[in-house]
Amino acid sequence: MRNEKPTISEHLKEAGVSRRNFIQLCTTLMIAAPVHLSLTRKASAWEVAKVVGKAKRPSVVWLHFQDCTGCSETLLRTSRPDVADLILNVISLDYHETLMAASGYQAEAALKQAIDENLGKFVLVVEGSIPTKDQGQYMKLAGRPALQVLKEVGQKAAAVVAMGSCASWGGVPSAGANPTGATGVDSILTEKPVVNLPGCPPNPYNLLAVVLEYATMGRLPALDEKNRPKFAYDRVIHDHCPRRAHFDAGRFAREFGDEGHRQGWCLYRLGCKGPVTHAACSTRHFNEVPDVWPIGIGSPCVGCTEKGIAFNMPIFQTAELRGITPPEALPLINTPIGKVGPIAAGMVGAIAGGIGGAALMASRRLPTGKEVSATKGSPDDHTKPDGKTGGD
Ligand code: SF4
Repeated sequence: MRNEKPTISEHLKEAGVSRRNFIQLCTTLMIAAPVHLSLTRKASAWEVAKVVGKAKRPSVVWLHFQDCTGCSETLLRTSRPDVADLILNVISLDYHETLMAASGYQAEAALKQAIDENLGKFVLVVEGSIPTKDQGQYMKLAGRPALQVLKEVGQKAAAVVAMGSCASWGGVPSAGANPTGATGVDSILTEKPVVNLPGCPPNPYNLLAVVLEYATMGRLPALDEKNRPKFAYDRVIHDHCPRRAHFDAGRFAREFGDEGHRQGWCLYRLGCKGPVTHAACSTRHFNEVPDVWPIGIGSPCVGCTEKGIAFNMPIFQTAELRGITPPEALPLINTPIGKVGPIAAGMVGAIAGGIGGAALMASRRLPTGKEVSATKGSPDDHTKPDGKTGGD
């Protein structure tokens, strides 16, 4: 009987997982979450597979708090069952309350065993927000308050990953009056390195990339000021949105099901928070299916990866545009689609000639008098050509 844990390659071989499937997973990892792993982005999937394959399977202990289990679902509900199977062969998911058959005392024993066998080495994944008010009144695990369980397990972990918006900063349970005092993990486990992977749900490949980087290199990826890995959260969705050309051209869906919506135009006017939401959803879709992400299926981004946006800001309220420099010819966002107002028409007439074409573009930025008065006092309803949102 071997004393040492097998490497990922050895385990995959024992489990009968084909090399081809493993290399396919590495390819997805490289695309979905440009694997750091001390390899350049030019590294081939084969090279990534070589590095990852030599690592020991990282032990993962997964705890649930105030959650809906959607973050677990996103990891397991891949479009092809073999992908979920593969993920569970690459990491060693030693404790997961939803997936394991044990319950009651057996479950507690399983948690103790998972911690003892990997003391100080396992990655703790937390799903759900932590209730901090009235110790134990809102949530208990095996008779102990949730807060106590998190602290006990957290201090024995090597690193902690807050999976999803609830674990990152409170999410749904923290919205509104926040009766349970729901908060994120990093405000409690201040002594431990905590990686936040907000999202409702988050992309599972981001989790896999973080855990594998830790397993192969013994370190966590570079984080931003909100403890999110830069490889996945360094840009706003708007930067890489496939509808961005429509935004720049002033083509907006105005109502669900209208012509603009059917044509796949920009969803900003329907409340899309893509311009203020840091996430990689626009380039890394879900379930290994192209276009499976909110904007891809015609739904505005709700900003679920941003603290204070999702679950706090009304869905139809338009986001404030910051740092976006629209082209000189950007039409006003509230200009009726396909119409040129009377002032614009007059302008075109006045300067018709050699500069007629340029004037036409500029004229499209001008609203009619009726439009100006209609937008006054409407904080979410007009954007100036310089990209700043007007209103009170
Ligand atoms: Fe895409 Fe939303 Fe930006 Fe429009 S506002 S381009 S739909 S991210």
